[in-house]
Formats: sequence, structure tokens, C-alpha cells
Amino acid sequence: MNQESAFRYREHSLFAEDVALADIAREHGTPAYVYSRSAIETAFASFVQACRGRDALVCFALKANSNLAIIELLARAGAGFDIVSGGELQRVVAAGGDPSKVLFSGVGKSEAEMRCALDAGVRCFNVESESELLRLDRVAASRKLRAPVSLRVNPDVDAGTHPYISTGLRENKFGIAHEDALDVYRRAAALANIEVKGIACHIGSQITSVDPYLAAADKLLELVDALHADGIELHHIDFGGGLGIRYRDEDPPSAQALLEALFRRLDRHPRGSRYGVFFEFGRSIVGNAGVLLTRVEYLKQNGERRFAIVDAAMNDLMRPALYEAYHGVLPVRQRDDVEARRYDVVGPVCESGDWLARDRSLAIEEGDLLAIASAGAYGMAMASNYNTRPRAVELLVDGAQVQVVRERESVASLFALERRLR
Ligand SMILES: *Cc1c(COP(=O)(O)O)cnc(C)c1O
Repeated sequence: MNQESAFRYREHSLFAEDVALADIAREHGTPAYVYSRSAIETAFASFVQACRGRDALVCFALKANSNLAIIELLARAGAGFDIVSGGELQRVVAAGGDPSKVLFSGVGKSEAEMRCALDAGVRCFNVESESELLRLDRVAASRKLRAPVSLRVNPDVDAGTHPYISTGLRENKFGIAHEDALDVYRRAAALANIEVKGIACHIGSQITSVDPYLAAADKLLELVDALHADGIELHHIDFGGGLGIRYRDEDPPSAQALLEALFRRLDRHPRGSRYGVFFEFGRSIVGNAGVLLTRVEYLKQNGERRFAIVDAAMNDLMRPALYEAYHGVLPVRQRDDVEARRYDVVGPVCESGDWLARDRSLAIEEGDLLAIASAGAYGMAMASNYNTRPRAVELLVDGAQVQVVRERESVASLFALERRLR
């Protein structure tokens, strides 16, 4: 089952695998995040399949969706994990994941996070600055350990994505500038408690073409050669994540097309096939495996504009407010008894930025259910409690079974840590 076919209509009623979304709403309420287990497993398997016969580690970038059940099912499928905080490491451990398959990324690792990751035995630290390298060396010395390290190099390629999710340009905060990398590697190689293992990059997110990956690969291979000439041998090359998905009409390469192109580039290099390869995909594993199920509270018209006010909001799904991102909107019941009109789909939060979709043709009435599509990545993971809105329930569908994988928050839990005046 591919991801798009995990959510489809049967007799005008939208299903997640073998369960009607209308039944899910009746049982569990709205708003609700609904994920398809097989869609996640299928997407992950396509990366694994593309790596067959190679020394490769396919990691799931936890920040895209860090629910324990999703971590657990990917861990069982053999995934490694790309983490960006000590909290994410604790999630991997709590879900039964293997710390020796964990890559620790991020520009601001604290000493405490470094200690925890060293003690847990993560596979590699992707180091993003010289200061971080020196700090890691000190922390590793205090634990009498050597820290396995890749430098995350900023290859200065344009991934052609939204400015907020592009990370591989010179002016981003991410990575070590390509022209400085050689010097930092030399320093790293001389540090007693650092073990140089590899080289890493991550050039952005929602990338819909192979070309920026190949451009980044060429930049990394240049450095690999320069390091080789210097006597610094690497064990792996980490190409990061960032593969896009179809939200609307994008046409990203398949996992297989992307990885084959990268492997071809690698195999053309004289020592390329010697290196292990790591990947860190988030969105492309879970993005189209989830929807946000919501109910229409009111339909209203202000001047020329019609609004469908729903019970999900920017606090549940921040991407439209943050990036003006497009999400498909699917009526859970296809009806022909009302006329389709163009609506802005908005939430109840007191911000004009609180919209989920704009100018969509929908045949709906008050009380109808909508599925906001492609909400499996950076949906619940970015949700907040703004306006004292409890975060939505998360549900995992597996065939005809529905499992609650995170309960809906209660209002009481939202202020449980707050204290009244003394
Ligand atoms: C966010 C992130 C990823 C995953 O990006 P996707 O676009 O979700 O695939 C991978 N690596 C790093 C370092 C990241 O910050």
C-alpha cells in the first residue's frame, strides 16, 4: 500500500486503511491525528529496499513525528534515528530503539545532552561548529570515552525550498562552512577524545529534485578526497534527509530514484563504494501517512469570503501559519446534496494567521468532518497549547484496528505545573 492509498474513499466515505474516519470521529472525538501503520512501514521499507546490498543505515528523523508507537514500529523495522535533543534520545530508549543506531544532530548540544548521548553509546555526533567539537572532546574526556564524530558540512547548495526549511546555504546557521571544514577536521583528528568517523550534510527539507543532493554529494566527496590526501580516513558519508512529499502537485523523486542516483555518484568515485552511507529522512517516511481529522463547527460569510470554522487550529497544525504550507482538505463524506463553495478553512484561535487551508472548493455543511491531508510530519510534533487548547488524540490504524497512541490532553493537565499566588 503506498502512502496516498492508505486514505481513500469507499462508497463516498473516507477510510484510513479499513476503518471509516467517521467511525473514528464518533469513537475518539475531534480533532484527532490518524496515522496509517502500513503507510509508515511501506515508506520506510522503500528506503531499506533501495539500500539492499550496501552498508547503509536509514535513520528516521524523530523531530518529524516523535510518538513512541511510531518510533517503536520503525525500530522494529530496523530503523536508526536522527535526534536533535537529549529528550529525543530518551524517547528512542523509551520506545525500545537501539542507541547504537542513533545520530545526534543539532547546532546547540548542551554538556548534559552530550554526557547522556555518550553514556548511551550513540553511533555518531554530527558536530556543527568548532566550539561544539572542543566541548565534546572535554565532555568525552570527563567520561573517559572517545566520541564518534562527523562534521556536518554546509555544502552551500540551494535546495530550492522555502527559506525557513532550507538549511544548506552559506548564510544558514547550520553546519560548518565548506571552506573551513578541512581545518576543523585537522583539529578534530588531533583531539584525544574525538574519533573522526564521517562527514554529514543536510541541505533542507521538502526537496523535490535529485540535483541538489548530487551537488551536495560532489561537495562532500571533494572534502573526502582532501582529507584522504591529509591521511584522515572516513568510514561513512551521511547525506541527511529532506526528501519531499506530494502535498499538492509536487513530483518528488521516489526513494529508489534518489538513492540510486546517489549510489551511482558514489560508485563513480575511486573509493566511493568503501564508505558506509547514512540517511536521516523524516517527512518522506511519515508525512503522507497521517491526516488531521476535524469537524466543521460553523460556516460563515464575511463580505465575499466564506469561512469553514473547524475544531482544529494552528496550535494543532502549525505549518500553514508558519510556512504558508498547503495541505489538501478532504471531506470525510462526499455529498451531492449541497453545492460546493469556496471556503477558507480556519480554526478558533484568536489570530488571523490561524488558517489551515485557503480558497478550497468544498461541498459541506456544519457538523461535517474534514481530513487535513499529509499531516503525519511536523504536525503533532509542532503542536502547542496556545489558547489553552489540549492537544489532539493520536491514533494508529492497522488494518481494521485502531489504537490510541497518545490520549487527548485534559485541560487540567495543561495547568498542572502552574501555581496560584502564595
Ligand atoms: C529535520 C532534519 C532531518 C529530517 O528532515 P526531513 O525533511 O523531515 O526529511 C534530517 N536531518 C537533520 C539534521 C534535520 O535537522
